[in-house]
Amino acid sequence: MGNIGNDAKLSSIDSIKQLKGCCEKGSKAQGLHQLKLYLSRFGYLNYQNTLDHGNTEDENFDNELEAALKSYQDYYRLNATGTLDGPTISQMVKPRCGLPDKKPYIHGSKSPRIVPHFKFFPPTFRWPASKAQYTYAFSPNYPAKHIPPVDRAFNQWAIGTHFFKFSKIPDFKHADLKISFEKRKHGDVDFDGPGLTLAHAFAPTDGRLHFDIEESWSDGPKTDYMSFDLESAAVHEIGHLFGLDHSDDPNAIMFATMDPGVKKGLNADDIKGIKRIRERLRTAQSRQKSYADRRRSDLEFQVGDRVLLKVSPWKGVIRFRKRGKLGPRYIGPFTVLARVGKVAYRLELPAVLGQIHSTFHVSQLRKCLADETAHIPLDDIQVDESLNYVERPVAVIDRKVKRLRRREIGIVKVQWQHRKGSEWTWEPEAEMREHYPELFSD
Ligand SMILES: [Zn+2]
Ligand SMILES: [Zn+2]
Repeated sequence: MGNIGNDAKLSSIDSIKQLKGCCEKGSKAQGLHQLKLYLSRFGYLNYQNTLDHGNTEDENFDNELEAALKSYQDYYRLNATGTLDGPTISQMVKPRCGLPDKKPYIHGSKSPRIVPHFKFFPPTFRWPASKAQYTYAFSPNYPAKHIPPVDRAFNQWAIGTHFFKFSKIPDFKHADLKISFEKRKHGDVDFDGPGLTLAHAFAPTDGRLHFDIEESWSDGPKTDYMSFDLESAAVHEIGHLFGLDHSDDPNAIMFATMDPGVKKGLNADDIKGIKRIRERLRTAQSRQKSYADRRRSDLEFQVGDRVLLKVSPWKGVIRFRKRGKLGPRYIGPFTVLARVGKVAYRLELPAVLGQIHSTFHVSQLRKCLADETAHIPLDDIQVDESLNYVERPVAVIDRKVKRLRRREIGIVKVQWQHRKGSEWTWEPEAEMREHYPELFSD
């Protein structure tokens, strides 16, 4: 979107007004491209999504335009005629929030993705679930008379949710939420002078909330029929700061359009929305916490605990290839004698392991669980000082011919000694025959 001048904006709204009752699918009309721009700006029309070669610059009433119109009418609970009837045009020219109603989808992607030119929606970061206290500040040039309505708006959210607490601070730069009045081109998404776009705010955790200074704003408990109630607009935009999207419930404060002279507050739909966001945050956070707790308890031992020690199958006779790699096994249990520094433990080792240094990094240890399938008895294997041992094959359970580019080789499926039935590897038959002839009785 370029910098829309006042005249250009008037002509865009006027050209949409003039389309009332006009044209049907398949025809052409002057002003349709303005309508297309409008619908794409607010998330209803996205030619990237279609195989059709339409675009927002031409004046053709194409399939995509009809679909976008229906989707718009559906959202605003109008008859989904796909035509430019009176109620649709009247809804479109209403003053509204600058954020799109729908997030467009990128062609070819199944998950909702955001088309880059909608700078409003950065990747959806969320405020931390535990954060209840937010600071807000007004820009240095913020008009003092416009402060009280915004204070009241924050208060509405605090009372309505029983969760958020807000404190006003003077430090604009470091506040969580930054409120300012802006005009036309101001570094993010342009305002358009009086009418149409009134305000916008950014999704978490950006914190910027902008009002269009060229609107007629009303600060008091009552508004005149020509002005927009600043408190209502602020309650709406604060919702965006916490990640709420537009609601299709006309009574919700998160409904996208706003009539002059009307005061609105939070309703049940808005509270439900914010609670859903909080619930999602809490679930994600508790999942993370329980994972962290589990890891911590896995990685910390007390003196006297019984632990297992990791040993690695030796790559001696048969070199384990990447594909046929065998996982580690554990021996023990052994008693923890002392903690050494932050990440190591000294263990009580039996005489047979006397050659092994008895202090181990925590990554080599593991809690001794009741049902221990990875555990192998110590007298079953011989461990060297680097905690390696030789794993022996016990049976060949299958064989086949593998076709390489120039030749064929026989491979055998080998069951190893300390493995469960599902853990086997494919090895070259010749190599196995050479080292373990006893496996091949034929
Ligand atoms: Zn909005
Ligand atoms: Zn802005």
